[in-house]
Amino acid sequence: TISKRLETIAHYCPQGARVADIGSDHALLASYLLLQGIASSVIAGELNEGPYQAALRQIHTLQIRDRASVRKGDGLAVLSPGEVDVVCIAGMGGQLIASILEAGIDKLEGVQRLVLQPNVGEEVVRRWMLQHGWQLIAETILEEDGILYEILVAERGNATLPYENKDRSREELLKIGPFLWEQKQPPLLKKWQQEREKWEKVLVQLSRSDKPEAAERVGQIKSEVEWIEGVI
Ligand code: SAM
Repeated sequence: TISKRLETIAHYCPQGARVADIGSDHALLASYLLLQGIASSVIAGELNEGPYQAALRQIHTLQIRDRASVRKGDGLAVLSPGEVDVVCIAGMGGQLIASILEAGIDKLEGVQRLVLQPNVGEEVVRRWMLQHGWQLIAETILEEDGILYEILVAERGNATLPYENKDRSREELLKIGPFLWEQKQPPLLKKWQQEREKWEKVLVQLSRSDKPEAAERVGQIKSEVEWIEGVI
């Protein structure tokens, strides 16, 4: 069995797809995709030696390992153009995910779908998609072991966000996630409650400070908290 998080990511990979999992660590997602008969083939990419060795060992335990390839390298550099239909990148910051996509943009030719799970900085990923002709087609948020995870799925498309101009601006939807906002699942409300609590703690600390910059920061944070209160 694998985590609910990885299982949900797998669920967004179409049946029969050739899938690359970049930053695969122990190649658990890649193994699951093969064992469940979801992916027709998998490529597990890893930058670092330790996780790369772990991925090799994991794939070696599989009967159907001839349909898997474990490669060491930075981001999408391990791929040849046209080699996969789906690219998954999970468990990293949004900034790193966006920079991996940006650096390997020529390798995305022929890729039909991105399944991304940023740990933080989801907004950066949504913005990257919008600016590079990837249209968000689905999003979900889930909680596992007390941690909230967002999964963003994109296919090639036009530069619009769904539900734009409805009741939230583009900037707001990039922050919250248009599908997440539309669905308003309980974990989403929890995420923004946590966000508010985090800022309120910062406000308490700033109130003890007599630095002149503190007052300005307090103003910014108060307006952020007000905005969050309009979300939850
Ligand atoms: N994707 C797995 C998951 O979601 O459970 C593993 C997440 S783990 C926290 C992040 C992995 O990405 C690490 O194993 C790290 O070595 C790898 N990594 C970081 N930067 C990378 C890059 N530029 N290219 C490939 N792998 C990278």
